[in-house]
Amino acid sequence: MAAPFPLSLSAIADYLRGMTTRARYWETIPLADMTPEEWEGLCDGCGKCCLNKLEDIDTGELIFTRVACRLFDDSTCKCSNYAQRKTIVPECVVLTPDTLADIAYWMPETCAYRLLHQGSPLPDWHPLVTGNPQSTHQANISMLGRTVSETAIDVEDWEDYPLDEQS
Ligand code: SF4
Ligand code: SF4
Repeated sequence: MAAPFPLSLSAIADYLRGMTTRARYWETIPLADMTPEEWEGLCDGCGKCCLNKLEDIDTGELIFTRVACRLFDDSTCKCSNYAQRKTIVPECVVLTPDTLADIAYWMPETCAYRLLHQGSPLPDWHPLVTGNPQSTHQANISMLGRTVSETAIDVEDWEDYPLDEQS
């Protein structure tokens, strides 16, 4: 039987914040016109943008690994210092409506920002659709409990930790 996913205070706060946004705004409001709360609310919490990626220099193919950024907390599937992330991890890319067009191609295919940018709907398991802040984890889309830290793996060994896209 699957383990339960108890609601954290931050998850409840995220959910309540979502209740202050316009109804099904992601279907009608252009990305550039969303409020900061609506923009942040698009994130499904999968954690996949915090994974290190390898690029084949010959083909340009991107390979996602399970090796996560040093600030990623595998037990919560969140950045452990979101407010200071850019200071601590300068290479962390901050996603905004202005940067999305240049970044979308290396975001995971399930990422809500990438999906809306390309004109696709949100998936059925997205928390905005389900109303359940844990539904990304329950659908086995997220990286909760699935990563290894980049602080524990030499960079030349990252290719030994490919992301299994089955989940
Ligand atoms: S990949 Fe997209 S939806 Fe997933 S955590 Fe990152 S920004 Fe959020
Ligand atoms: S600094 Fe935080 S948000 Fe940025 S990649 Fe690392 S864990 Fe993710």
